[in-house]
Amino acid sequence: MSRWMGVIERYREFLSVSEKTPVITLNEGNTPLVKADNLARIINPDLEIYLKYEGLNPTGSFKDRGMTMALSKAREAGSRAVICASTGNTSASASAFAARAGIDCFVLIPEGKIALGKLSQAMVHGARVLQVKGNFDDALRLVREISAEHPVTLVNSVNPYRIEGQTTAAFEVCDALDGPPDCHVLPVGNAGNITAYWRGYRTYREQGVIDRLPVMLGFQAAGAAPIVLGHPVEKPETLATAIRIGNPASWKQAVAARDESGGLIESVTDEEIVEAYRMLASAEGIFCEPASAATVAGVRKLQERGYFRKGQRLVLTLTGHGLKDPDLAIRVSSPAHTVEAEKDAVLKVLGL
Ligand SMILES: *Cc1c(COP(=O)(O)O)cnc(C)c1O
Repeated sequence: MSRWMGVIERYREFLSVSEKTPVITLNEGNTPLVKADNLARIINPDLEIYLKYEGLNPTGSFKDRGMTMALSKAREAGSRAVICASTGNTSASASAFAARAGIDCFVLIPEGKIALGKLSQAMVHGARVLQVKGNFDDALRLVREISAEHPVTLVNSVNPYRIEGQTTAAFEVCDALDGPPDCHVLPVGNAGNITAYWRGYRTYREQGVIDRLPVMLGFQAAGAAPIVLGHPVEKPETLATAIRIGNPASWKQAVAARDESGGLIESVTDEEIVEAYRMLASAEGIFCEPASAATVAGVRKLQERGYFRKGQRLVLTLTGHGLKDPDLAIRVSSPAHTVEAEKDAVLKVLGL
């Protein structure tokens, strides 16, 4: 049988699992690598651009790759409850995998700052959701303290199994392209994912699956760009709530990925993010989260500086699905017309 069984079954040999590990999976992974020729035509026709569409994971973001590992290992260790701080997608994913594992899930989110789709997921899966009067960094500090003192497993990306599970996305990219891209482009929030991709690529090279490594290009939102600025941001602000983080947990590892790969971590403004978000939706038919669109905004910015060489192959990770936050899509698009239920009226508006 060739049914896809999730990232642990597919990449078991690279992961810290044994026959004794109960695999908690929603058949995550195996996401499309979409060739974006329309986007390339707009940005630079001499580039080969691929989109790793992680919004098509079971809960709508790449977090599922790490969560299948985190919950499987939590179950293996006999844990009865998991806890996380979240800008939304971590809680959506943790609550779904916890439900499947039969484990309690506690979620701390910044009050009023998470997209409604994500909040609805945590709630419907039965997590205990607490809105913290503070930001993500405050919530992360709290869950780190609580999990150190109480029998609950922390499933933020400081949990090493999260990062390990997320390495599988780099494996999938190499498997699909029969090699690594020249550049891998990611949004950077808590910086777990750029850490995971870099580790995934290095693992594949150490194992002899690939013979070179990509350049890692990370993008933060201008109002939440601690790594770019070189110091924590007390009050991070951006409409890309998934990367609204002022003090990333994997800061050092992200800087290592940047420097070891000869890459960059830079920032893009909310305006550039929204423009890229609309461009992806209208030119490629791909609906992603604003945080994900930071990749496209970043590539456009580097292109303007003449950063890329002819024929380079780029992979951009689109981290989450646009349906997480339909309010934003409606807010930045042209409004729907209201017409009388008459053919002439409809034709007039349509210009037919
Ligand atoms: C979590 C998340 C990010 C940020 O990833 P990090 O690993 O925290 O850097 C970006 N986009 C989306 C949609 C996310 O859910």
